[in-house]
Amino acid sequence: MTDFKYAVDADGVATLTWDTAGKSMNVMSQEAFLTLEGMVDRALADAGVKGIIITSAKKDFAGGMDLNVIAAMRDAGGAQGIFDGVMGMHAILRKIERAGMDPKTLKGGKPIVAALPGTALGIGLEIPLACHRIIAADNPRAKIGLPEIMVGIFPGAGGTTRLVRKMGAMMAAPFLLEGKLSDPKAAKAAGLIDEVVAPEDLLARAKEWVLAAASADLVKPWDAKGYKMPGGAPYHPAGFLTFVGASAMVHGKTMGVYPAAKALLSAVYEGALVPFDVALKIEARWFTSVLMNPSSSAMIRSLFINKEALEKGAVRPAVPDQSVQKLGVIGAGMMGAGIAYVAANAGIEVVLIDAQQDAADRGKSYSAGILDKGISRRKVTEDQKAEVLARITATTDYAALAGCDLVVEAVFEDMKVKADVTAKVEAVVGPDCIFATNTSTLPISDLAKASQRAAQFIGIHFFSPVDKMLLVEIIRGRETGDRAVAKALDFVRQIRKTPIVVNDARFFYANRCIIPYINEGIRMVAEGVEPVLVENAAKLVGMPLGPLQLVDETSIDLGVKIAKATRLAMGDAYPDGAVDVVLFAMSDQGRLGKKANAGFYAYDEKGKRLGLWDGLEAAYPVADVQPELGDVQHRLLMAQVLEAVRALEDGVLMDIREGDVGAILGWGFAPWSGGPLSWLDMIGAARAVAICDDLTARFGERFKTPALLRDMAAKGDGFYTRFAPHRKAA
Ligand code: NAD
Repeated sequence: MTDFKYAVDADGVATLTWDTAGKSMNVMSQEAFLTLEGMVDRALADAGVKGIIITSAKKDFAGGMDLNVIAAMRDAGGAQGIFDGVMGMHAILRKIERAGMDPKTLKGGKPIVAALPGTALGIGLEIPLACHRIIAADNPRAKIGLPEIMVGIFPGAGGTTRLVRKMGAMMAAPFLLEGKLSDPKAAKAAGLIDEVVAPEDLLARAKEWVLAAASADLVKPWDAKGYKMPGGAPYHPAGFLTFVGASAMVHGKTMGVYPAAKALLSAVYEGALVPFDVALKIEARWFTSVLMNPSSSAMIRSLFINKEALEKGAVRPAVPDQSVQKLGVIGAGMMGAGIAYVAANAGIEVVLIDAQQDAADRGKSYSAGILDKGISRRKVTEDQKAEVLARITATTDYAALAGCDLVVEAVFEDMKVKADVTAKVEAVVGPDCIFATNTSTLPISDLAKASQRAAQFIGIHFFSPVDKMLLVEIIRGRETGDRAVAKALDFVRQIRKTPIVVNDARFFYANRCIIPYINEGIRMVAEGVEPVLVENAAKLVGMPLGPLQLVDETSIDLGVKIAKATRLAMGDAYPDGAVDVVLFAMSDQGRLGKKANAGFYAYDEKGKRLGLWDGLEAAYPVADVQPELGDVQHRLLMAQVLEAVRALEDGVLMDIREGDVGAILGWGFAPWSGGPLSWLDMIGAARAVAICDDLTARFGERFKTPALLRDMAAKGDGFYTRFAPHRKAA
């Protein structure tokens, strides 16, 4: 079985059809690349072939390179192995680009066109960029682009060099630096592709172009005499401004912690100064250097390999398919409305219940609002909107839940209210129905006491806003059975989010780690650390939001509520009194965060953040001697990371992959690090212990080195060596 098929029609047009065996989406492997090369060679050598179409047998063109292959290349051959592998890919794509023409006269050669039926990502766009024309089917759901930067690498099969030479550095910047994806029409407007046609005309139009192509149509601008880079090369006055600006912008956005962004910029800058083939070599060198960087390896491992493994059911119990047919959602507030939308959008029938009909209707209209936005962006049609809305029944009548195989409750965070709802639901649903709670703070095992079927009771914890956040935390109560876990996992797969499964303990996993981060930031303000130092230290280490901005976003009254409940539960052992003084004072003054237009930050009347609130300094005078940046960063990082380690020690986390993937997707833990456990592996357990011992001596017991970490340091272990994922993807 090969991944490409070769056919020549009566008019002498060869079609190379990509069809990765056993996968719904084409992905490129080393063998497939060699197969493609063999077929290109064959078509170029066959005098009866006039030109070539490269297309796909699937609904999409390709999802990209199989990153497992890149990881294998690195593991097998190190830097030289990667460099040689990449140069091999360059040679194949250059062969397509030259297509047999005489490199001196630029005459001869056969036209090669890429015909894209749908999505074309990564190498799935780099191959077309080497072709002489890119024609895409008008499929508004298709995504075209180079998303490599999102997993810590950059387009390394000529995509960087070709796109910059095709569009100019300025126009290429959002595609390369932000991984921007476009639908075919937008891709055509931006100059990423050449033509968009009706899906049914795709191959006919590709053939027509091949047969009509003139010699000059095959010569890429950068291979033609007198080529000048659009927008100017670095020493051109306009180009100079672009490159200086891009460098500042990249640094501003990445804070310098993402090696791929810096390397990409270097590849573009240096490549722009030399001929095309040398630029490809420079691109390959920088690509190799990025792949050898521990940050890229950790990002690929967490954000691609392990994320995908979790989505495919790596931790799913072996029970038959539990896909949800009919979902009940109780509570049509912020969370319930979001859950109803993502489920209906995934094709699931939803009954959305609230105590009052108008609240249920408001919950449903939340979906209409999101779909309307989609329509205005051409992502959704009126028909699709009608279909999704028709799947949601908004009612107060619990009888409508009959036939539901999963019910998720998202009512008020109150034990009694939730217990009442559990009983009412169980009275109307069938005996097999799984009941899930979206609680963020109440123990699942306690809530399960209200259920007649504790084995079918589980936590499915969504993050807000539900339609945007990628992670769902599934919580096993003490008595939760395997079928409930499988049901929750199958539901998360249906709504195309990433799941982690954790055991029941205070704040589960994500909130357990994020609360100490916020608290450490507030504690420092109380100590007299410059608030701006706290916020910038967090951002400089790759956190998307500083702790003070984060608590403003999630709301200060929620923080107060959680603090009071935690203090009640922990009694004398409660460690955060110093934090509460600040938090409660803010709340007493009505500074409840972003929603109140007043919190640790000041806001204008439209809710735009202006800067840190100047009243902070009056209330918490800034100390004369400020701490080192590194100290502030270690405190902020260790506050989160140590909770992740303790969660593993306590058995809340059962799989280190979930600890890392959950941290990045759940609360944006410094993605460059690959997650808290990957970060510890990067610095090494011995250094981590030294940092914790030092922080404990200076700041207190909350930084106490976990026994696990100390043992790992003694044995020279890492998390990914000691806890190698024990189960394979299903
Ligand atoms: P919300 O106040 O916006 O919505 C709660 C809804 O439940 C309201 O519409 C209310 O009318 C309805 N309701 C209350 N009692 C009911 C009953 N007996 N029967 C039917 N409907 C009833 O709250 P929310 O922010 O959507 O939170 C809901 C749940 O999700 C809580 O348990 C919360 O802890 C959890 N949660 C919230 C967030 C968040 O960021 N807001 C994140 C994760 C989890």
